[in-house]
Amino acid sequence: MWTGLINAYKPYLPVSDTTPIVSLHEGNTPLIPIQNMAAHWGIPAKWYVKFEGLNPTGSFKDRGMCMAVTKAKEAGMTRVICASTGNTSASAAAYAAKAGMGCVVLIPKGKIALGKLSQAMMHGATVIQIDGNFDLALQIVRDIAEKEPIALVNSVNPYRIEGQKTGAFEIIDQLSDAPDYHVMPVGNAGNITAYWKGYTEFYNAGKATKRPKMIGFQAEGAAPIVRGHVIPDPETIATAIRIGNPASWKTAEAARDESGGFIGMVSDATITQFQQQLAQKDGVFCEPACAVAIAGVIEAAKRYTFTKDDTIVSIITGHGLKDPDHAISVSTTPIVVEATYEAVSKAIFSN
Ligand SMILES: *Cc1c(COP(=O)(O)O)cnc(C)c1O
Repeated sequence: MWTGLINAYKPYLPVSDTTPIVSLHEGNTPLIPIQNMAAHWGIPAKWYVKFEGLNPTGSFKDRGMCMAVTKAKEAGMTRVICASTGNTSASAAAYAAKAGMGCVVLIPKGKIALGKLSQAMMHGATVIQIDGNFDLALQIVRDIAEKEPIALVNSVNPYRIEGQKTGAFEIIDQLSDAPDYHVMPVGNAGNITAYWKGYTEFYNAGKATKRPKMIGFQAEGAAPIVRGHVIPDPETIATAIRIGNPASWKTAEAARDESGGFIGMVSDATITQFQQQLAQKDGVFCEPACAVAIAGVIEAAKRYTFTKDDTIVSIITGHGLKDPDHAISVSTTPIVVEATYEAVSKAIFSN
């Protein structure tokens, strides 16, 4: 049986036989073809989503967190700390619980999706809200972890990147080669850094014949890499990528440039449109941030000529259930009728 990504990819990860592996059997997420979206948009390529929302806490953050918490435990730490736009805190709280460790999370007040907050609370983390954005929260936890015996598990922790690179390993294993185009959301930019590292390592190991063009997307109101400067007050409904000063900015640009890809941006209205379309045409419910990886393919089609022999993979980084408020606010409200056969039948058939 599948017992998590550390066991699956041990030779490529910084672990030994005595490392105390902390796992919730994360990884092994499906690559789902989205042929209805492809047909709708006239994309001739084989277009897949890697549904990372199917990880144990509902986002890709579990890939990095199992490594970061494992290494913190190996180092004898008893507590972990992170700043979070939501999913990092949900994941840290779950893996710390599994490891029998304490967890402290710093989140921007009022800017975190309800599902994510409920996870950190349910897993027993100490949740601290600050009157400031993610970038400020990250600065504070970095300072604390430098002075106190508490392990920082944000993606500036190199073990996070090590765990996350296994997403690329899985894609290569699933397709028997690397895809031609890899499209994903970019927030703090750790994940695009990790995927490029993963593709490169498997390419160098002879497990792939090529590396994909790396295409990253940001939200218009939080697009520091596209605009080329820090955004002091990032704003977007896609809270997972509401970041104005990405910690892995340089390595994201390196992935983009070495692969011959690009980093673009889309509006909040476009994000909502593609989130709904993916859910309604191909049955995959993603959180708003991931919709940029779908909209990004339509943008990329303006630059590249996709053919039927091309393979595109869009990373769906988190599950739509994380942010029910947004989903409900953009959907039509349920029809209310009397509790009778006639009323229900009329509501169904007379519209
Ligand atoms: C964290 C997160 C991102 C952004 O990933 P980075 O590594 O910060 O670029 C995107 N989508 C979701 C759902 C996330 O939780």
